[in-house]
Amino acid sequence: MAKEVKLTRNQQVVMAALTDAGQPLSAYQILDLEVVRDNGLKAPLTIYRALEKLMALGQVHRIESLNAFVACDHEPHAEPAAFMICQDCRCTIEFSTTSLSRSIARHAGQHGFQMAGMHLEVSGHCEACASAH
Ligand SMILES: [Zn+2]
Ligand SMILES: [Zn+2]
Repeated sequence: MAKEVKLTRNQQVVMAALTDAGQPLSAYQILDLEVVRDNGLKAPLTIYRALEKLMALGQVHRIESLNAFVACDHEPHAEPAAFMICQDCRCTIEFSTTSLSRSIARHAGQHGFQMAGMHLEVSGHCEACASAH
């Protein structure tokens, strides 16, 4: 069990919005949600601040290729998150990168490359969309 982290009210609102959405949302999509506005969150900066904190806690991940944010689907984890992203419905599937990130870190080490970040995003079609084609 992850250690209990006290979220501020704004962070709770943003976290709940992402969890309910069950799919990646941009900061502006979050801002547009009625539940978010009803809770008094009206400025993009407020949303970004909450997202930054939630990402630092590992409860939210940023999907670079969609410029969107998604709730982590399990307990916060140390290894970077990786995603399969459906090009049709924009759903995302999070998967573990434990062995992948170890291999990437080894390659970086061999080249003396100083890694600053890692974004593992695989594009394609989810099972439902693929079978609809
Ligand atoms: Zn995660
Ligand atoms: Zn799909």
